[in-house]
Amino acid sequence: MDIVIDFDGTCVTHNYPDIGKEIGATPVLRELVDAGHRLILFTMRCNDKKKKNSTLDAALAWFHERDIPLYGVQVNPGQKLWTLSPKAYGDLYIDDTALGCPLIFPEEAPPYVDWREVRRILATMEVLP
Ligand SMILES: [Mg+2]
Repeated sequence: MDIVIDFDGTCVTHNYPDIGKEIGATPVLRELVDAGHRLILFTMRCNDKKKKNSTLDAALAWFHERDIPLYGVQVNPGQKLWTLSPKAYGDLYIDDTALGCPLIFPEEAPPYVDWREVRRILATMEVLP
């Protein structure tokens, strides 16, 4: 499967433009890659040449440091062959702002993805064993 994933609030807690804390995404993303799924990062982060902070590069470094390969960044590389749509194509989307995405609601911070529950759903869907 091609799985499109958001970054802030999804892979880590919300701390933009800095990188948030670990929330349990790393082992699940690792499992997905090991099972042959392809991850596509789809985020509002970007590299603004007018500003010094490259927020997209910081997110890419997060994946690199964890040895989690990305098949695509902001786009599914294969979709150019069959569509001009700017939406990154995926079989599945994991995003803290998606309706139905399981979330954890901390007392004084924005909600973030509940990866324990995501892992359970992925098993139910037979995406992971
Ligand atoms: Mg988000």
